[in-house]
Amino acid sequence: MKSKVYILYTGGTFGMKNAGGNGLQPSTWEEIIDYLPAIKNQTFFHYFSEIQFTFETLEPVIDSSDITPLIWERIAHKVQENYESHDGFIILHGTDTLAYTASALSFVFQNLSKPVVLTGAQLPIFHPRTDGIVNLSNAIYIAGYKSFQLACIPEVCICFNDDVLRGNRSVKTSTNDFEGFSSPNFSNLANLEQQILINEHLLYHSSTTDKFGLKTKFSNNVVSVTVFPGYNPKHLIDLVKSKKIEGIVLKTFGAGNLPTSDIWHELISECESTNTLILATTQCPNGKIELGQYESSKILKNSIVIDGKDITSEAALTKLMWVIGNFDVAERCAILSRNIRGEIT
Ligand code: ASP
Repeated sequence: MKSKVYILYTGGTFGMKNAGGNGLQPSTWEEIIDYLPAIKNQTFFHYFSEIQFTFETLEPVIDSSDITPLIWERIAHKVQENYESHDGFIILHGTDTLAYTASALSFVFQNLSKPVVLTGAQLPIFHPRTDGIVNLSNAIYIAGYKSFQLACIPEVCICFNDDVLRGNRSVKTSTNDFEGFSSPNFSNLANLEQQILINEHLLYHSSTTDKFGLKTKFSNNVVSVTVFPGYNPKHLIDLVKSKKIEGIVLKTFGAGNLPTSDIWHELISECESTNTLILATTQCPNGKIELGQYESSKILKNSIVIDGKDITSEAALTKLMWVIGNFDVAERCAILSRNIRGEIT
């Protein structure tokens, strides 16, 4: 069966060239496609002959360090405009913030039932040893699943090297390894080696059959704070008092531990009186928060603190921004505590 695959190019190393000594900068899709013979000449290189592609560029193409919630919104609208007419979607994106964008989009899309596959590369497509061709080809198999008699992955996922990872479980773990991403607390959704293996039992299916839609707002009124030995949250308390923020991702030690100092009580009571949420996460890549396991985490057993369990930093931050952007104060805690897109175990 012929699949219709929509590819949105947003920038990133995948399509970058060294522009006159100024460092790597993104080039145009027209330049890139010459280096993708299996896509450019579908009849001669018959592998993708059963796929009907639509290509679009999100202008201006960027290094993904420049990604913003407004760009997430634009990407989401592009998927929505093409949702009914396509079977799967590929977002070509820089790797630096790929895990943030994948997490953010997983919350934005309501009732998703088609694959949205994010991918990029560690070496540009113009480089003889690029990983871009493998990454994009693998993404095409996942997005164009119908043409290859594969199961549908109805999720926002990251396809990188041989792995397909749930987007909101992914983290960038290497600046140069072709295996650039991992999903420390959740198994791969699929592996593309000589055979393609999709772990169907792990797939997240939307709980309703309602129409696909978007909730695209993100609040910037958040901070992410990493606790370190000797850290004193006095500046954080001042910020909470100023009412300029509505939420904090607090990256605690181990299973939710903090230094035992009374100043943390002050932070919690300021958060309570200003309705500032604290989403507690762990600094450890593996494992989860267990508030109350140690005396040093008991202080966080408070109604203004949400136990982030095993959520990644990227998913925690984007979920907090998204929840504050789209829901009333009274609803926020419950949504943050709940697993809404497979982001927590
Ligand atoms: N700085 C680049 C970006 O995120 C890195 C990459 O794509 O690998 O756009």
